[in-house]
Amino acid sequence: MKGPPPQDFYGILGVPRDAAEADIKKAYRKLAMEYHPDRNNGDKAAEEKFKIITEAYDVLRDAEKRSAYDRFGEAGLRGGRGGGPGFGFHHFDLSEALNIFMRDFGAMGGFDAFFGGGQRTQRERHRGQDLKVSLKLTLAEVATGTTKSVRLRTLEVCQACRGTGATEGTRATTCGTCGGSGEVRRHAQSVFGQFVSVSPCPSCAGDGLVILHPCPTCRGDGRVKAEKTVQIDVPAGVADHHYLTIRGHGVPGPRHGPPGDLIAVLDIAEDPRFERHGDDLVFDLPISFSQAALGAEVQIPTPYGDTPLRIQGGTQTGTIYRLRGKGLPRLGEGGRGDLHVRVQVWTPAELTPEQEQLFRELQEVEGKPPAEESVGRGFWNKIREAFRA
Ligand SMILES: [Zn+2]
Ligand SMILES: [Zn+2]
Repeated sequence: MKGPPPQDFYGILGVPRDAAEADIKKAYRKLAMEYHPDRNNGDKAAEEKFKIITEAYDVLRDAEKRSAYDRFGEAGLRGGRGGGPGFGFHHFDLSEALNIFMRDFGAMGGFDAFFGGGQRTQRERHRGQDLKVSLKLTLAEVATGTTKSVRLRTLEVCQACRGTGATEGTRATTCGTCGGSGEVRRHAQSVFGQFVSVSPCPSCAGDGLVILHPCPTCRGDGRVKAEKTVQIDVPAGVADHHYLTIRGHGVPGPRHGPPGDLIAVLDIAEDPRFERHGDDLVFDLPISFSQAALGAEVQIPTPYGDTPLRIQGGTQTGTIYRLRGKGLPRLGEGGRGDLHVRVQVWTPAELTPEQEQLFRELQEVEGKPPAEESVGRGFWNKIREAFRA
C-alpha cells in the first residue's frame, strides 16, 4: 500500500532545485502571506495549503534535511528504509505550521528586508534600529548654525493593534517553552562538572511572548512603514564628517520596544571662495599693480557678508591680512576663528595699446626691484609681518 503521493517541495514553493536559501525564504513568505489562516477567515483549503507550504519550507530551509530530501525524497526525512539520517518528519498540524511561521517571520513582521536586518544581541532585540541621514550644509549655515528639516523613511507604531502586534481583542500569551523568560537553559555534564548553557528560546525567539493571532496590519510586528519629518538643530562651527546623534528619534522598537537613535552625518559643501583650516578661513584676493602700489579699499567676502578692507600702498604678493573673528565659530568654545586674506598681485595677460603705452612710460621712471640676495625668506616675512591688520 502506498501513502499519499510524494510531494515535490520545490514545486510547492515554486523555486528551482538549486534555489538559494534566501530565495526559498522569500518564496515561502510570499505564499504564507497569501494562505495564512488569519487572512483567509479559517478557510479549510487555505489552511491545508498553509500546512503544506510550511512543511516544504521547513525541510528546504535546513541544509541537512534538504540534502537528505534531495537524495531520498520524503523517505530520507523519515529515516529507516531510505538509509537517510532521519529527521522524524511528519505532516504538520496547524499549530506547528503557525509556530514555524512565527518563529521565522513573526518578530520582524517581514520588515527585515526593508531595513537590512542585522544581528542583534538579546538585550538589544527590542530596540529599534538607528537611522542614518546625511545632512548637506553650506559654509554660511556652518557659520551661523541652522535648523534642518529632513524627511525620513521609518516605521511608526501600528494604530490597528496599538503596537502590541496582536489582533484587536486578542493578546500575546506567555511562551510555553520558556515560561516567558525568553531563554532556555540546558544542564549538561562535562568532565569539568555540570554546566548550564543559556540560549534564546527557539519558540518565541527570545520575546517571552507568543502572538497566536498576529495583527493583520503589521503582521505581528507592532509597527508599520511611515515617513516623517524631523527638525535637526545644527550648532555653529561644525566640521565635515562630524555627526549629530539625536537620541530616540530612530526607528521605534517592535511591540513597544525602545526606539533607536537618529544619526545625522554632516556633509558640508565646499565654498569655492574659502580654504578652511579648522575655525580659520583663507581667502585669496587678487589686486592690480596700481592697487598694490597705491593702496585701495576692497570688499572681502566673509560667511557673514562682505566686509571692507584697506589695502595699504606698497603691498606685495603673499601679504596676508588677518580679519579677526571673521572665521568660523569655535564649536563648544565660543568665539570665532580668523579670516586670512592672502594678497595676489594680478598681472594682466593682455594689454590694450593705451595700457602698453602707459607701462612703457612707467618703465622709464620706476625703481628697480630689490637685489636678489635681499629677497630671501626673511625679506618676505618682514613684509607680511608689517602689513598684518
Ligand atoms: Zn498591528
Ligand atoms: Zn519562549
